[in-house]
Amino acid sequence: MRFIVSFLISMGLLSVPTLTFAQPYIKLHRKAVLIDTHNDVLEKAMPKGLSFDHDLKGKTQSDLTRFGEGGMDIQIFSIWCDGNDKLPFGIANRQIDTLYTTAARNKDRMLMVTSPASLRQALRQKKLGAMIGVEGGHMIENDLAKLQALFDRGARYLTLTHNVSTPWATSAWEETHDSLLHQPKGLNDLGRKVVEKMNQLGMLVDVSHVGEQTFYDIIKLTSKPIIASHSSVYQICPVPRNLKDEQIKAIAKNGGVIHINFYSGFLDSTYDKRKNAFIQSHKAEADSLKLADMPGYRMEEYIAEKYAAEADALRAPLSAVIDHIDYIVKLVGINHVGIGSDFDGIESSPRYLDGVQDFPIITRELLARGYRKKDIQKILGANFIRVFKANMP
Ligand SMILES: [Zn+2]
Repeated sequence: MRFIVSFLISMGLLSVPTLTFAQPYIKLHRKAVLIDTHNDVLEKAMPKGLSFDHDLKGKTQSDLTRFGEGGMDIQIFSIWCDGNDKLPFGIANRQIDTLYTTAARNKDRMLMVTSPASLRQALRQKKLGAMIGVEGGHMIENDLAKLQALFDRGARYLTLTHNVSTPWATSAWEETHDSLLHQPKGLNDLGRKVVEKMNQLGMLVDVSHVGEQTFYDIIKLTSKPIIASHSSVYQICPVPRNLKDEQIKAIAKNGGVIHINFYSGFLDSTYDKRKNAFIQSHKAEADSLKLADMPGYRMEEYIAEKYAAEADALRAPLSAVIDHIDYIVKLVGINHVGIGSDFDGIESSPRYLDGVQDFPIITRELLARGYRKKDIQKILGANFIRVFKANMP
């Protein structure tokens, strides 16, 4: 092969940039187990009547073919609805139904993963291992039997809150906005029972979105390593939902893993200001959408899609993702960082990371920063596998 390639180059029939398949980072990326702990394509596609086993290029950041192109081995699909939605347990179950039927339609390409054994099976069979993570404790409707039911259907992590607090756990958003908070900060009795039951079942406790008091209540209580499924570093980008140094150290001490979120606004501290100016420049349209009762995040998504070139200019630099990974490695070592992209849950991703097909770029950039093969394998997936195994009963 190498001979043919150099022959073609010498004949001027092949230019060097097309040789990416021969580059060491591609080989390393294909060999490593890639696990992304947070993807929202179910919630993104379902309301539009789309399914991610179809070609959704131009419509979403993910689909089955692009997972393959990006070298994805295990994708944890986020089950999500807003904390104010009615009947959230029902919504969660409909999204889980959709994931199971999609996997059943694509038996030759997908396998549902609920244990380290089925994870290994998916890797052996070279299929996309699909896992379920429930993003928001509101979906258990204050009922431990519903927590059990979601576990029985295959959910392997629960993010204790989304932005709206549950009656038993306060969120990062509400803990940092006094006017929104109508309960004591942290976990109450039911909250503690939820964590204990999750530990018993082997369901990972996810602290992305939870408030600091809730976070420290969990850390004190949990008997198993925890994860942040999609959070970044507060010290670099101070938004309420990113993790402060003391929290990162506490997760390391607990043996857990922080999976870096790719949202421009969680990576780049200048993003929010620039985005607000952009929305402001389309104020009349934004206001009319708000009057039409569109939630703020949907309005921003709409404006970003409509004025795509302007939105594109706001994106965080690619180096920002690596900076966040690097920061955690320098603070607590290589064993506590992973990838939780949040693709299809974010209206802006870093430059060059347009969707799940672009994960090899992360490997390339880590190599360029001097990370060794073994370290890169830990970041891409091995750290998560360690925590997943440690949570088994
Ligand atoms: Zn989220």
